[in-house]
Amino acid sequence: MVKTVIPLNELRNPLAIPPARATPLEGALADTRGRTLRDLRISVTDRCNFRCVYCMPREVFDADYAYLPHDEVLTFEEIVRIAKAFREVGGIEKVRLTGGEPLLRRDIERLVALLRAALPGVDLTLTTNGSALKAKAQALKAAGLDRITVSLDSLDDATFRAMNDVDFPVAKVLDAIDAAAAAGLAPVKVNMVVKRGVNDHQVVDIARHFRGSGHVVRYIEYMDVGSTNGWRMDDVIPSAEIVRRIHERFPLEPVGSLYAGEVAKRWRYVDGAGEVGVISSVTHAFCGTCTRARISTDGQVYTCLFAQRGYDLKTLVRSGVADHVLSEAIRGIWQQRSDRYSEIRTAETARSRKVEMSFIGG
Ligand code: SAM
Repeated sequence: MVKTVIPLNELRNPLAIPPARATPLEGALADTRGRTLRDLRISVTDRCNFRCVYCMPREVFDADYAYLPHDEVLTFEEIVRIAKAFREVGGIEKVRLTGGEPLLRRDIERLVALLRAALPGVDLTLTTNGSALKAKAQALKAAGLDRITVSLDSLDDATFRAMNDVDFPVAKVLDAIDAAAAAGLAPVKVNMVVKRGVNDHQVVDIARHFRGSGHVVRYIEYMDVGSTNGWRMDDVIPSAEIVRRIHERFPLEPVGSLYAGEVAKRWRYVDGAGEVGVISSVTHAFCGTCTRARISTDGQVYTCLFAQRGYDLKTLVRSGVADHVLSEAIRGIWQQRSDRYSEIRTAETARSRKVEMSFIGG
């Protein structure tokens, strides 16, 4: 495979932070398309112990791959300061820790505790591949984590091992889901990325397995994130087809959104065995209601998962600016936001160079 990943030194060449415009005190902060800022995703590491073929293919993320050096990674205290500044300007309701694999970050539960204390009332959650979750679930809950999402692309062990490409057994992830539920992190959300011809035969099996468990499976259309996964439209199973396949076996009916901007479209089993969600970033873009900002591992703000460049908050934070300067920077970044990549995606744009998901946080 050709190494088309964007070199880190280019990523570190940030865009100039735009000046903030005055907003009425009582009015919510809105971007150029009227979208408010509600969700913050924080990538706490660009490293992962899996080499999922659609995310961090081992041909690119090999022994020579240049991960961020330690001193470029935001400290916990810097992360908390940035998160507080976001909340200050944007009415953040939800914070998700991700990566890379967030549970690889040493003492991650300490960060959870710091965020919990700094952001009371915020829904604090984390996305993990589950490999280290069994050992960490109780500590994460005790530190104040509200919920957890576990990625699980197949119940079939051979398919699962082939997709994570490090021969990790599916039984350990299933154990970890049980451990998370026992620790009080239920209901667990289970993310399945569906790739045609690779794991789409598992759609109904996964539905069957988690029906009645209280956990919620969310089927994600395979996306053209980053530049390394060789994405092709033919590999995408549209969520309408996923719903149809499940519905044929276990009848479904639609459920209304819980809140404005909810990304997953929800369906419930007619027999009362729970619900599933589908995330249709490719076939039904939801840019129009996207309220998410992302902080990369090295402290840049990205206003779209498919962005090519971020805004460098780390330099600002490390230059010793006052809190209100940081808040003004965030306000300016959000006010000029105009991204709507998924609405304008074409085969051509899919080939463009975008930041890797492991760096920006999935
Ligand atoms: N390591 C953690 C994990 O595995 O959940 C967190 C980071 S991972 C990048 C976050 C989520 O992004 C996972 O559920 C993963 O399956 C999903 N993901 C990665 N690449 C994707 C792609 N090309 N299309 C759709 N989802 C993707």
